[in-house]
Amino acid sequence: MPNYKSTTRTIQSGYVTHNSYSIWDSYWLDYIHCSILLTFNSLVSIMSKQFAVIGGGAAGIAAAYTLLENSVDTTVYLLEATNRFGGRAHTQIINANGKPLPFDMGAVYIQDPDAPDNPWKDIAASFGFQTIEDTTDYKLRINDGSGYKTEDVTANNDINIFSNCINKGFEANKDYDNKAIISDPGALGKMSSFALGISTYGSFTESAEPWQYLAADRAREASGNWGNNLFVREGYGKLVQRYGEQIKKKYPDRFYVTFNALVTGINYTDKFVVVTYGDGYLLSVSACVVTLPVSVLERHQRMFNPLLPQPYVTALGALRLGSYKKMAVQLASIPDAIEDNINYYLYEINDTTRGIWQFYRLSFYPDNVLVIHASGDFAKALDGLPDDEVYNMFCASFDKAYDSQGFVQLLGMSNWSKNPYALGAYSYTAPLPDLPISDSTAYKARSQMRKAIDNKLFFAGEALSLQAYATVHGAYWSGQDSAINLLHKQGVYEEGSSST
Ligand SMILES: Cc1cc2nc3c(=O)[nH]c(=O)nc-3n(C[C@H](O)[C@H](O)[C@H](O)COP(=O)(O)OP(=O)(O)OC[C@H]3O[C@@H](n4cnc5c(N)ncnc54)[C@H](O)[C@@H]3O)c2cc1C
Repeated sequence: MPNYKSTTRTIQSGYVTHNSYSIWDSYWLDYIHCSILLTFNSLVSIMSKQFAVIGGGAAGIAAAYTLLENSVDTTVYLLEATNRFGGRAHTQIINANGKPLPFDMGAVYIQDPDAPDNPWKDIAASFGFQTIEDTTDYKLRINDGSGYKTEDVTANNDINIFSNCINKGFEANKDYDNKAIISDPGALGKMSSFALGISTYGSFTESAEPWQYLAADRAREASGNWGNNLFVREGYGKLVQRYGEQIKKKYPDRFYVTFNALVTGINYTDKFVVVTYGDGYLLSVSACVVTLPVSVLERHQRMFNPLLPQPYVTALGALRLGSYKKMAVQLASIPDAIEDNINYYLYEINDTTRGIWQFYRLSFYPDNVLVIHASGDFAKALDGLPDDEVYNMFCASFDKAYDSQGFVQLLGMSNWSKNPYALGAYSYTAPLPDLPISDSTAYKARSQMRKAIDNKLFFAGEALSLQAYATVHGAYWSGQDSAINLLHKQGVYEEGSSST
């Protein structure tokens, strides 16, 4: 984590107070300081309709728009730790064959683009961003003893056995409140690695192992056919960022964003909220939407004063962020056996690490660029290694499977578990270790976090979307919902809605 030093200035400007302390644990000092600086009554009247949004990812952006759109006299202060909008939707420009290429380190495609109220397809169109339908198929590159060959995932008997096992566990338990999909991964033996490549709904990589999920939680995922996923050619991260940048243009007098504003303290009463951020600044508002990833909330709970009530602490124990790693590499040439828009799976088994590589070419990428994913515990292990070691490990396995094609260079690699503002990829709900498996507390974690505290503190983010968690549109819906809830509770907006 960055080092937070105290400063000694005390400035007061409008509703933002700059004070002298800023470390994660300085909340009591902040609280006392703030109480002295601003008398209680003047604070409340000054701050009516002044709201803070913490975090500038999809949820924070949606919350800000919603707070501004639904009243002509709200003012929104958005505080973001990094220097950009987008959070876990982040496009990095990499250099392939001497040309810039957008590479999504996080979210890559608009999922369920035709789901009612999923805004991203229209937002992409409004900015002139090109979207490309994902029609990928799935294949396995496997050595059956007589050399490597490529086969359909569904044609592989081992995979079918494993897949059936997951589906059986899921079907058997989904109607119960709180059952893990598979409670004993060890029983699956060697094929357990394929958990990384297969989820309950098909051959996809996941941020966590299937047995780490609650079946009931997976069961409530959005159902219905809402269209094929859409790649965003210029980058999904770039799209979310652009949409965030638009807020200031639309509401120049009522929206204030501060980047590089790490929030370290959130003091709340039933009358106001004071947020400590950056180099010792205080922001006083009448209510606040917190969109930090649940892993960040869990790790930095002491930033809240008073501390979060026990049900929230328990919920944060059940909501975890899994790991998901991505890298882009450039080869001298791609083997003939690798076709466009096919996802390939390849075992990685070495002395220390074991898992599945998933890789594919994109039709709109240069021919010699390969995108590689790893997920779950395998990704977590890789996140613990230096980038060049991960790259070399993949090159060695790939060379073996395809008869060495000659790698040129590593173009980009994500590491979300080590990113202090994410601490993981995206959420799953895990059983709580201290409670019997039949206890439904963990299953209710997402709903619990959606409840406001004192009508002042509201939470949002992908993990709090009930139907579309782990997605950008789920994050967006959650931000919208909590902002509407806030406006409703603050008496600004009469029609509340809270559905997704
Ligand atoms: C590798 C990967 C692949 C994915 N693929 C897809 C996909 O294809 N499609 C899809 O729909 N979704 C995908 N997702 C999920 C999607 O990216 C997330 O669900 C979504 O972007 C989360 O948005 P959010 O606003 O809830 O959180 P975030 O985007 O994490 O936003 C939270 C913000 O809070 C900021 N912050 C953190 N701590 C502080 C602090 N103390 N003070 C101030 N600010 C702080 C962060 O910097 C961040 O900007 C993927 C995610 C990953 C990691």
